[in-house]
Amino acid sequence: MDPDLAPVPPVALHRAEQTAASLRILEWLAGAADDLLALAVPADCVCCGAEDRTLCPSCASRIRQLARNPFRAESGAPALMDVAGAVLLPVVAAGVYRDELAQALLSFKRHGQHQLGSSLGRVLASAVRSAAPAGHGVLLVPVPTSTAAYVSRGFSPVHLLLKVAARQLPGFNVADALGKISVSGHGLPGGHNGPAGQKGLGRGARSQRVRGSMKVKPRARTEVAGRPCLIIDDVLTTGATLGEAARALHREGALVRGAVVLAATRPPDAAARDAADAGVRGDHHVSEKNKPGKDE
Ligand SMILES: [Zn+2]
Repeated sequence: MDPDLAPVPPVALHRAEQTAASLRILEWLAGAADDLLALAVPADCVCCGAEDRTLCPSCASRIRQLARNPFRAESGAPALMDVAGAVLLPVVAAGVYRDELAQALLSFKRHGQHQLGSSLGRVLASAVRSAAPAGHGVLLVPVPTSTAAYVSRGFSPVHLLLKVAARQLPGFNVADALGKISVSGHGLPGGHNGPAGQKGLGRGARSQRVRGSMKVKPRARTEVAGRPCLIIDDVLTTGATLGEAARALHREGALVRGAVVLAATRPPDAAARDAADAGVRGDHHVSEKNKPGKDE
């Protein structure tokens, strides 16, 4: 058969298809190579995208700046104030949950980058010092991670941050004393459990869901009884989680002095304004020790 007689278009089409397929393979290989490189080379700054470091020096210094003045944050958290406006649990926040502090924390919670952990851990340590300047004998108790969150991440961000912070906190002891109570058949409305379900809930439903969800681990009971404790968490929003942690510790006789968080979603001025609206003048039953100095 004379090749010139063969219909041209199908052959051309066939070649075009082959070329396209080859290009796709090349693209795929290039993509695979990129993925391999991304594994080998440190990721870019999670805040500004500057190359080669998970957290660049200027964003690291911004984080220190954002956390320069730890502040009392409980008045912005409805679950930590009673109806009369009295403080149920004093909380010191290292900074406001925004900008580089929020970006770094979010990325750390997702991926647990070592460099972010040491930067945020330092920030947490200085907030703890400001909450309890004479910290000797104070137990630092991290809020428990839900099993589902632990399984999906493979680590607990709060525990990891506290581990870093504790290295810079001589005189304090870490007690991983709190555990989650299995919530299946817990009897809460809705019945769907797990961390994903909580975000869409309003304040009331959220604190109702959290209530009764924690307990002191049996082996930690004697460790916490009669001891001054500070509860440690990453972000303060409604305060429901901290409130529940405080209840669980209190039940076992711990002396809950307050809590320390890395970041509060409400800035201190908004929190103070809310407190003023609610008629809070002084939180009498709260130890003065927990208040960070104005000039710290
Ligand atoms: Zn940066």
